Amino acid sequence: MPSSIVWFRDDLRLADNPALTEGARHGSVVPVYILDDEAEGLRRRGGAARWWLHHSLAALDLSLRRHGSRLVLRRGKPEKILPSLASGCGASAVYWNRRYDRGSIEQEERLQRALTRCGTAAESFKANLLFEPWEVKTSADTPFRVFTPFWRACRALPTPSPALPVPRQLPIPANEPAGDTLASWRLLPTAPDWAAGLRSAWTPGEAGAAERLSTFLDGALTDYRHARDIPACEATSQLSPHLAFGEIGPRQIWHAVSARGGTAAVEKFLSELGWREFSYNVLFHSRDIARCNFRSEFDAFPWRRDDGALEAWQGGRTGYPIVDAGMRELWATGWMHNRVRMIVASFLTKDLLIDWRAGERWFWDTLVDADPANNPVNWQWVAGCGADAAPYFRIFNPVLQGKKIDPRGDYVRRWVPELAGLPADAIHQPWKAIKPATADAYPPPIVDHAFARARALDVFHGLKKGHSDQADRA
Ligand SMILES: Cc1cc2nc3c(=O)[nH]c(=O)nc-3n(C[C@H](O)[C@H](O)[C@H](O)COP(=O)(O)OP(=O)(O)OC[C@H]3O[C@@H](n4cnc5c(N)ncnc54)[C@H](O)[C@@H]3O)c2cc1C
Repeated sequence: MPSSIVWFRDDLRLADNPALTEGARHGSVVPVYILDDEAEGLRRRGGAARWWLHHSLAALDLSLRRHGSRLVLRRGKPEKILPSLASGCGASAVYWNRRYDRGSIEQEERLQRALTRCGTAAESFKANLLFEPWEVKTSADTPFRVFTPFWRACRALPTPSPALPVPRQLPIPANEPAGDTLASWRLLPTAPDWAAGLRSAWTPGEAGAAERLSTFLDGALTDYRHARDIPACEATSQLSPHLAFGEIGPRQIWHAVSARGGTAAVEKFLSELGWREFSYNVLFHSRDIARCNFRSEFDAFPWRRDDGALEAWQGGRTGYPIVDAGMRELWATGWMHNRVRMIVASFLTKDLLIDWRAGERWFWDTLVDADPANNPVNWQWVAGCGADAAPYFRIFNPVLQGKKIDPRGDYVRRWVPELAGLPADAIHQPWKAIKPATADAYPPPIVDHAFARARALDVFHGLKKGHSDQADRA
């Protein structure tokens, strides 16, 4: 029987996995995962994502075993490992699903060349996006820089094809290669084991993803448009880590959600998937979105270096309850509500004037859904230097935002227990509370928001002026 290798990466699922379907169509399949995050040009996963990866790989291996197969684990350079595995087990082809960052694209090109040299076929597939970045272009054939026309153009394209079923059979070749043990990769934290909150919040793996989706479809979807901005409501899908690891594909979500009818809630939810597509479009067309400002005029931005303030922000001790609740939710569960992500990012980049890259790195290390496109693109969006970015002068007031999205203070009470005794009308400004003793252990604000706002606007106007002076001189 002919055999092939299926190279798994951010597509840790059996359903709607075109590379796997293609392999199974041709004969026996060797499913391989290579720990490649120390490879040239690739970003090493953060601690929370490494925890997730461990469990997701274990879940994938279990599903494969239920189909008579198993996952082969290897560590090193895919462009060396895969050709040698192919010749060792007589595989005539290697299949994989595409990634869209520069480092991965270059790695795929190196692999393709190495496979061609040894006469092994190679083919890649679309699995992780609804629309390929090169399919969505402006009428001038340039990439979109603004979300609304981008999404309109996506919606004008043919509907994404239906999701593929799990292949019925996944036979393995007789000379199946040996692999590492998952434990030997030491992806889990040990000293100390900080993952208790992650364990209780999440079930990594394809089955966990399917369960999240069905809970969302039968519950929060109906009121998604209105409740999605209220962090205490748990009104969003929480599918992001499952999507980041490809335990569920966007096509599966698209079709399952669309089947609930074309309501405003469904359209709103699909447009959030659209933001993910947009981020990947920006990632694909940019040099290094996690390091370089999308708008180069921000290269001259005078960010402040303030390690004490950065640590207070990371530790959820800024003295602004909504900011601190978000940062503590992140630390405990590896996830944070979208609206709160926007508030904490605005606080770091505008109130504290700390470089968005410091926040992006912290999120990269602590988020279970840390995503090479969504994380930097959203950070740049909030900081004002990104594609279709929020204007720099729009600066969130953390007190007003707290009152707006957490009017009863339930979210703050859950994550900042020092403030649990405060009534709703005092909880977002504990320094004004009538009984300061209740907020005893809680710090005062590390910066006065009115002062910080004026300072940020000053800096921004200086940047704009410098830019227009330069343009005048040119
Ligand atoms: C500073 C900052 C950093 C972020 N970092 C990440 C990240 O590393 N990984 C990540 O997946 N998302 C990131 N986001 C986007 C967003 O916050 C999360 O996708 C969302 O909170 C995930 O929760 P959910 O699955 O319940 O979302 P839902 O509201 O249920 O949305 C469904 C899906 O749509 C996509 N989506 C929703 N909002 C956005 C958005 N603004 N941009 C891109 N895609 C979106 C996600 O894939 C999400 O899972 C970031 C946002 C900000 C402001």
